[in-house]
Amino acid sequence: MKGIISLLFSSALCVCFSQQVDLAKKYSATINEADLKKNLSVIASDDYLGRETGKQGQKMTADFLTAYFKRLGCSFAPGMTDFEQHFEVIESTPGGTLSLNGLSLNFKSDFIYYGCKSKTTLENIPVYAVEQLKEAEEKPCYVVHVMKSMEVRKEVSELKKQLPKHVKGIILVSDKYDTLYEYLEHYVTTKTMYLADEKKKAEFPILFLKQSALESLKKESNGLFIGKGKVLKFSKPIFTLNAQINTQQDKLKSSNVLAYIEGSDPILSKEVVIITAHYDHIGVDHGVVYNGADDDGTGTVALLELAEAFMEAKKNGEGPKRSILIMPVSGEEKGLLGSDYYSSHPIIPLENTVADLNIDMIGRNDIAHEKDTNYIYIIGSNMLSDDLHEINEAANKKYTDLKLDYKFNSLSDPNQFYYRSDHYNFAKHNIPVIFYFSGVHEDYHQPTDDVEKIIFSKVEKVARLVYFTAWELANAPKRITLNR
Ligand SMILES: [Zn+2]
Repeated sequence: MKGIISLLFSSALCVCFSQQVDLAKKYSATINEADLKKNLSVIASDDYLGRETGKQGQKMTADFLTAYFKRLGCSFAPGMTDFEQHFEVIESTPGGTLSLNGLSLNFKSDFIYYGCKSKTTLENIPVYAVEQLKEAEEKPCYVVHVMKSMEVRKEVSELKKQLPKHVKGIILVSDKYDTLYEYLEHYVTTKTMYLADEKKKAEFPILFLKQSALESLKKESNGLFIGKGKVLKFSKPIFTLNAQINTQQDKLKSSNVLAYIEGSDPILSKEVVIITAHYDHIGVDHGVVYNGADDDGTGTVALLELAEAFMEAKKNGEGPKRSILIMPVSGEEKGLLGSDYYSSHPIIPLENTVADLNIDMIGRNDIAHEKDTNYIYIIGSNMLSDDLHEINEAANKKYTDLKLDYKFNSLSDPNQFYYRSDHYNFAKHNIPVIFYFSGVHEDYHQPTDDVEKIIFSKVEKVARLVYFTAWELANAPKRITLNR
């Protein structure tokens, strides 16, 4: 009798104890430094050629990720027949021809441009000085402006404020062209990319001209280049512009990789928590491989660890109630292209997307925290949902005890980090996001962003914080709500 009672009692205890097991914590143990290091040593090796979008290194990385998710037993996202969401990008090579009143100018030595990625033909476009616009015809035109300083961005933004809608671009003329060219060279001569199916946005080209190359037009320009660039009031255009820019356009293929872990609850599993990191980097330049170990090798390998943890839980019948989509995206370095593509071609409806947790660079210390490894910048957590902010805070307090630094968590921060990684393409659709980031450092976008410099204990800890936050988002009885 006693024996039976004690047996009943102990089994009751046992049930009680198993309910108290912290499942989130139990499965977090699979997220570990050794795996992070092993995987990063592969994708951030020279063999992976800096993982440039549309190139061999990116495809090799996609294959590596795909094989990994397959081994873990992850599913294809609903309706998909493999792990990859393919998309096309156009690689645009800067260059072209330009003439003013029939005077031909040469790309680089006489003119450069920015604000225009697509192949563009400008035919007999009238060019006015700003002062003329009041009297000029309201037809598509450009304005010409003689630079007063070297502050391109400032002068352009001031100029733009005065322009009516029919002005379609700006010609800047400078007698300091050569100095400005040196300063802007990398930016204006590097190939750019955009999504092939992008709805053609109206571009606003800024053309930069060398003043001395226009010597022979001095008379025709009616005093434009005399003194401080004053023009006489007259309504006839100063110049007629003809140009062909970005002539070479190459179509390339890229992809996002989607590993789906279906939720256990029949109703809540329709909702999904997305966790992203970009697996592309900037490739090879002059034979030097840019390995991008921190940017964003660390985020990419963190995703593999998260997938493993959630799959372990699922295999034991203890997986989260809502679904989890682990999504390494590409095209980030070319303008957040992969996440842009996903958010305009979502596999799971955006209205069923609870949040996006985005990891981009979590393996180094920045200058503000040289000796203090135990911190992470949190950006965006309270922008759309206070619930999300609180869940992340609580997860950190309970499990990881990192110093959460909100220094960059502001729309007006001059670095504009809130707009600079893939979470933004979710936030712009009103999906709450958190961007986990350990800051920039001297190896940022340098060929020296290498595996040896990564602090793996930090990557592990941040990855666990993302995991615990995702776990709570996926299991909470009530979905997080939007602030406004
Ligand atoms: Zn990055």
